[in-house]
Amino acid sequence: MAESVELPGRLAILPFRNKVLLPGAFIRIRCTSQSSVKLVEQELWQREEKGLIGILPVQDAAETTSMDSMLSQGVGSESGERSSNVQVSTSDAHKVDGKNPSEVIHWHNRGVAARALHLSRGVEKPSGRVTYIVVLEGLCRFNIEELNTRGPYCTAKISPLEMTKSGYFLISIFYLLTCLEMEQVEQDPDFVTLSRQFKAIAMELISILEQKQKTGGRIKVLLETLPFHKLADIFVASFEISFEEQLCMLDSVDPKVRLSKATELVDRHLQSIRVAEKITQKVEGQLSKSQKEYLLRQQMRAIKEELGDNDDDEDDLASLERKMQNAGMPSNIWKHAQRELRRLKKMQPQQPGYNSSRVYLDLLADLPWQKASEEQELDLKAAKDHLDCDHYGLVKIKQRIIEYLAVRKLKPDARGPVLCFVGPPGVGKTSLASSIAAALGRKFIRISLGGVKDEADIRGHRRTYIGSMPGRLIDGLKRVGVCNPVMLLDEIDKTGSDVRGDPASALLEVLDPEQNKSFNDHYLNVPFDLSKVIFVATANRMQPIPPPLLDRMEVIELPGYTAEEKLRIAMQHLIPRVLDQHGLSSAFLQIPEDMVKLVIQRYTREAGVRNLERNLAALARAAAVRVAEQEQVVSVSKDVHKITSPLLDNRLAEGAEMEMEIIPMGVNNHEISNAFRIASPLVVDEAMLEKILGPPRFDDQEAADRVATPGVSVGLVWTAFGGEVQFVEATSVVGNGELHLTGQLGDVIKESAQIALTWVRARVADLKLAAAEETDLLQGKDIHIHFPAGAVPKDGPSAGVTLVTALVSLFSQKNVRADTAMTGEMTLRGLVLPVGGVKDKVLAAHRYGIKRVILPERNLKDLVEVPADVLSSLEILVAKRMEDVLEHAFDGGCPWRQHQRSKL
Ligand code: ADP
Repeated sequence: MAESVELPGRLAILPFRNKVLLPGAFIRIRCTSQSSVKLVEQELWQREEKGLIGILPVQDAAETTSMDSMLSQGVGSESGERSSNVQVSTSDAHKVDGKNPSEVIHWHNRGVAARALHLSRGVEKPSGRVTYIVVLEGLCRFNIEELNTRGPYCTAKISPLEMTKSGYFLISIFYLLTCLEMEQVEQDPDFVTLSRQFKAIAMELISILEQKQKTGGRIKVLLETLPFHKLADIFVASFEISFEEQLCMLDSVDPKVRLSKATELVDRHLQSIRVAEKITQKVEGQLSKSQKEYLLRQQMRAIKEELGDNDDDEDDLASLERKMQNAGMPSNIWKHAQRELRRLKKMQPQQPGYNSSRVYLDLLADLPWQKASEEQELDLKAAKDHLDCDHYGLVKIKQRIIEYLAVRKLKPDARGPVLCFVGPPGVGKTSLASSIAAALGRKFIRISLGGVKDEADIRGHRRTYIGSMPGRLIDGLKRVGVCNPVMLLDEIDKTGSDVRGDPASALLEVLDPEQNKSFNDHYLNVPFDLSKVIFVATANRMQPIPPPLLDRMEVIELPGYTAEEKLRIAMQHLIPRVLDQHGLSSAFLQIPEDMVKLVIQRYTREAGVRNLERNLAALARAAAVRVAEQEQVVSVSKDVHKITSPLLDNRLAEGAEMEMEIIPMGVNNHEISNAFRIASPLVVDEAMLEKILGPPRFDDQEAADRVATPGVSVGLVWTAFGGEVQFVEATSVVGNGELHLTGQLGDVIKESAQIALTWVRARVADLKLAAAEETDLLQGKDIHIHFPAGAVPKDGPSAGVTLVTALVSLFSQKNVRADTAMTGEMTLRGLVLPVGGVKDKVLAAHRYGIKRVILPERNLKDLVEVPADVLSSLEILVAKRMEDVLEHAFDGGCPWRQHQRSKL
């Protein structure tokens, strides 16, 4: 670099206004002024080898004063060096940097020789002026001996100032410096100390810069290769320092002075970088934090606005904490909650786990740890009235409920039994449970357990799982908001167990008064006291309920209603409720008793009243449409009296157009429509029934039609929907004596069929079912027995007698009586054993219009539960042995006896 530069005695001078080019620095300038363009052209452009030019700082006169004062204050005066300015009057001054200064300018007496590294020439449009862009590299300092401002550009007689290894410190005009070889300087202990200082500080700066710009140690290499006094220039040149300081640096010819000046500047730069970094960090942190807060607050505001909660200043977590404080948690749980809250407070909202922790704490705060609905003084009379008012019949059940309530009244904390209502759908199990809640003045919550197979549904998922949540019980308590509700565990018989655990065993804990004081939900992970909850359960059937669970409950059976009871329920409860639900009253729609009976007979054949209610609702809907349509038409029709019964008017119902006139002002539409309503309520008749509900779905003829051929018998079975009539069909075809069974049968029923066939085959002679010479009924035959409907799964032993009857009918070719239905299990020896669900089965027979029912003798006791009016309309026939059944099932007694009789 500079070492090899031989400076000529005279240099063309390019003035730099208020700017200094230091040795080692690079600068890119654009020359536009006449003199500078000339200079570049002659000194650089037209020369073959790139020449040198001198860069001389110039400054405005005004600035000189301050500069002078600065110098006098000691800037750059460490070595006692002083530079002086050359003042040039404007008359012969050259344009400096293209500017034509009108005031006096000062030429500095020291400059830097520069080499052009790159030159490019351009033409300015539209003036056509030539301009140059020059990249210059500062090489070494020089002293102006004599400045010549005349001519197209300035030139100066110069003397070099830099100390080179082979050269000397040249004497300037102003200073008489001792000639010192650079080697000597380098050995000077002061210089060594200064160099070390400079190196340390420069290293630090470089490290910071490299960290920032990831330059990969390139600058550090410089530090090792270049002499320090040059490095000092290079470093300072890269900083943004004031013109005065730049001048001062230019004037620091002595390497020691320069180094100490540079050390000072680098240090200052380092400090400023550090401060800037600190500030940026702080500002960045503050900015992002405040931005985040702003965003969250905006979101919170939007949510609160949506919720109609305008208290937006309230801090979210603070409100959560307040909610937790008010939740009345037991002390140990409060401690646990606080721990969790502290953890939450330390988290950022974006952090994984923040939300789940938040939701968990919300649950803790929302749970009714102590909050209870105040129990009113129980008025048994009022409770009884309430039950009577809501439910027709069910005398015994209501009595049992009153007993239950009475015990609670006398001993409020008594751990009474858990009532479990068992019965077909729609018999009022849920509504009885809600009546208990109403009588006790407690809140009511229904937890559906139908189809629950996972234990976690009851106990919750542990919080380690993604999407974990509390079990249904805890969730229900959160929803109901009190710790002492009446909780209905609906369809408790529909829980099943699989690999995911056994919900029934979890329910055991819930229903056990000893254990439910500290019910442990996996999600909640702290015990919750369920002992104040009154549990009531419902089930369709008792059989699927696991015995230990059944053992914890007191079963109350609701067998289903007779047609008469259904009629009463419909008239007294369902119709008023349905009308009310549809915005109607008896002034709009009347459903006469006869029509309700028809609905019960022809459209529903269920144990409960749910379908009945549904059908009544369909009638109400149809009426509502008509009323609504009518109101519209009336509102534009003036001639009220023309239509006497608009609701029944066929023309209208079919959508025929009415005469349309504008109602004169003053006519009150409301009055008009009211007049209509009162004048003509819609009365349901048979035709309307068919129109709305469709053709009848059931009739009493069904049994007769189906039993019209030999081989068919009528059984009574028990399903989740209560009692049902079950036909059994048997037929024989040519075959190898095999028995085929169809109709989705379970193992027990299949075995019953085997037993039945064996019994019949064993008695073929006694029953005279085959010709005397034929000993095997199945010779060359296959027997096929089918249980319609084919899609419904069936099982159980009670079809035994029905199967035998169907087979006897088949082999004797005698029809079974169509008015007779039967139930009973049969042993291989022909004994008829008692079966379950007799009450439901008898009711089902009654519903189907069956007149005679054959029952096992030992089931007679069950008939006390059957309503008297049903019993009086049925002939109950008792069977001890299979022969008794056959005797009753066929017209004129057992076919075998008939045979005998005809023989006699
Ligand atoms: P379940 O729970 O047994 O399936 P619900 O309690 O839901 O049946 O009853 C179905 C509907 O029938 C309800 O609207 C209920 O009020 C009504 N209901 C059932 N039994 C009676 C009754 N004995 N008296 C009055 N309404 C009844």
